[in-house]
Amino acid sequence: MNRTGIYPGSFDPIHKGHIDIINRATKLVDKLYIAVANSPHKKPLFNLDERKEMIEEEFSSNSSIEVIAFDNLLIDLANSLKAEILIRGLRVVSDFEYEFQMLGMNRQLDSKIETVFLMADAQCQSISSNFVKEIARLGGDISNFTNKFVASKLKDKYK
Ligand code: ADP
Repeated sequence: MNRTGIYPGSFDPIHKGHIDIINRATKLVDKLYIAVANSPHKKPLFNLDERKEMIEEEFSSNSSIEVIAFDNLLIDLANSLKAEILIRGLRVVSDFEYEFQMLGMNRQLDSKIETVFLMADAQCQSISSNFVKEIARLGGDISNFTNKFVASKLKDKYK
């Protein structure tokens, strides 16, 4: 059985927590779409193309992964891609409440689509894009939190 999954997020920018979740998710599905949300309300530091490029750079050798951008309802996107599994990452307890609500709403919109929650490796659990950006802005070392390509893009942004 061919399983298709979607891992949605803002990825502004991608970090080691996301990368760990993606590597775990590829063991559960045959095809994984990493769906980059436009999220203008979050005022992202990187535009959509930049965010996509940073993910593509990390996973260029994996043909089962495709990076796409989206600005519509996640459930509509899932249906148009024939994806039946939504992948979400769980970090701290505070993620749970939001994720719980989102699952409930998505399930009411389309009960055929299952949400699967994954936890990153302990070392990656506390990483968030916001902290990575803040540390980079203040000139700190982010090499434990993201890859070299993203680190250099962040350096350029805050030059
Ligand atoms: P961020 O909060 O870092 O900006 P996104 O909005 O891009 O992340 O999140 C996309 C998905 O990745 C969400 O399901 C989020 O919970 C998950 N995620 C983000 N960071 C981590 C992490 N360090 N460990 C596990 N899951 C994570």
